[in-house]
Amino acid sequence: MSLRNIRIEGDDILYKISKPVKEIKEREKQLITDMMETMEHEGGCGLAAVQVGVLKRIFIANPNDDDEENVEETDNLKNNESVSKEKKVKKEKLLQNGREVFVFVNPEIIEKSSEEIKDSEGCLSIPKHSGLVSRPKTVKVSAYDENMKHFELTASDFFARIIMHEYDHLDGILYDSKVKDGEFYELKEENDK
Ligand SMILES: [Zn+2]
Repeated sequence: MSLRNIRIEGDDILYKISKPVKEIKEREKQLITDMMETMEHEGGCGLAAVQVGVLKRIFIANPNDDDEENVEETDNLKNNESVSKEKKVKKEKLLQNGREVFVFVNPEIIEKSSEEIKDSEGCLSIPKHSGLVSRPKTVKVSAYDENMKHFELTASDFFARIIMHEYDHLDGILYDSKVKDGEFYELKEENDK
């Protein structure tokens, strides 16, 4: 296992279209393992292969890494036990192959809700910034896992947002191109991870 360097906005590779994966060999397995380690190390909730300089249609996502909800849960735990229990049931962890990190190989978006939600987004390739982006509330995805086993899943809210953000990376699109004027922000030091 090893950490890989994250490519930063301005790097040509981030604007290129990634190629479909034909098969998962040792090299791809290593890439996925390294991507997981790198994402964890950088404190991200999603990472596309192109962000570590590999033009393959692979991304990973951790839908359980939703900071805001976790904060709420902690507050509720202090103030009102019954509310916190209810929240905990709702926040049952989403897992793939027993892991919190989902692997998407050759993903296709097969359905998108017409309802969109605008919320703040960040990207490891655009450090110290965030911006408001509208994304479908719900998306249905068809993809393969790290063993090339086919799966489909329907994701909502935060998970749907990560999927659409990462999917865009595979087509060379960074989220800042979807942010309206005045809705792109520089983060202050105290918000740094
Ligand atoms: Zn990103």
